[in-house]
Amino acid sequence: MSVLVLADHDQGVLSPATARIVHAVAELGTVDILLAGENIAAPAQSASTLAGVAKVLTAEGLFVADSLEMLLSTLTVRYHYVVASAGSVGKDVLPRLAAKLDLMPVTDVTAILGPNRFERPIYAGNALQTVASNQPKHLLTLRASAFRAAATGNAAPIEAIDTSGVSSAAKLIASHRTQSETPDLATAQIVVGGGIAVGSAEGFQLIESLAKKLNAAVGATRAAVDAGYAPNDWQVGQTGKIIAPDLYIAIGISGALQHLAGIQGAKKIVAINTDPEAPLVKLADIALIGDLFQVIPQLIAELDKI
Ligand code: FAD
Repeated sequence: MSVLVLADHDQGVLSPATARIVHAVAELGTVDILLAGENIAAPAQSASTLAGVAKVLTAEGLFVADSLEMLLSTLTVRYHYVVASAGSVGKDVLPRLAAKLDLMPVTDVTAILGPNRFERPIYAGNALQTVASNQPKHLLTLRASAFRAAATGNAAPIEAIDTSGVSSAAKLIASHRTQSETPDLATAQIVVGGGIAVGSAEGFQLIESLAKKLNAAVGATRAAVDAGYAPNDWQVGQTGKIIAPDLYIAIGISGALQHLAGIQGAKKIVAINTDPEAPLVKLADIALIGDLFQVIPQLIAELDKI
């Protein structure tokens, strides 16, 4: 059995998600990694060090969803599994590939139970579904945060592949990058989340200050995003990002089911809330009952002393 993992990378850095995907699929067969895009020399080098990787394939150039799907479809003939993380690229490309190959993709996988049995959350994480697939090939997106990362120390060969037949019907006009000094939300070890109670975009600067002190990523509820207090890509939950940090500090967040769907993988939860009856306060490992505008400056002042 052979597995092709589509690596995530950005600005010349391999995403930590890729090491997790490689570890997750290692039991399925020989694992090759595909790195497609611009500025891929350094991430290809990082990918080659991951334990369990047989080969790293590189395709240098600008790829958008349709050209990446075309590239993958030329390669899939050699593989039994094509796997990507359930991030923005994987969610865009794998369903296209599935349509082209007339296969059903299995998405948001959180456990691999066997060669053709996969577990995935449904109903906003309130139930787990086991999918048994008898298809000739398996196209999977994995929630990287559900898996441990592969070790490093390997030196797999890196091989450039021919992309001459690959084209796109789309033309990239411009790309706009969100500037952030904080770690990536999807893979951060600590996340500080703010809810509607933060009250304003300026109020979120308080959340960001605490996050910076802890080297944490910043998350937000949909209510806070909809109110314009936080950018869309900070949203955590059913219709936002799925996170699995070691520590999640939820500030002024009630704990609606749709928000909880995104934080089920968090190992420890601290809730800061004025309401002792809030669902997230009841779920939290540690709850601090108090006004965030008093508690957070105190916390920051204490951290400054360390
Ligand atoms: P609220 O529920 O209003 O809670 C505010 C909390 O702040 C309360 O617990 C209150 O006690 C506390 N508080 C108030 N003042 C203070 C203070 N000064 N100090 C400390 N605490 C204070 N939501 C998401 O987050 N992510 C999603 O992906 C998502 N997807 C959705 C999808 C659908 C289809 C739908 C219908 C909803 C979705 N929602 C999602 C919205 C969700 O249902 C909730 O409305 C939202 O999560 C509530 O956000 P909140 O906790 O910020 O606000």
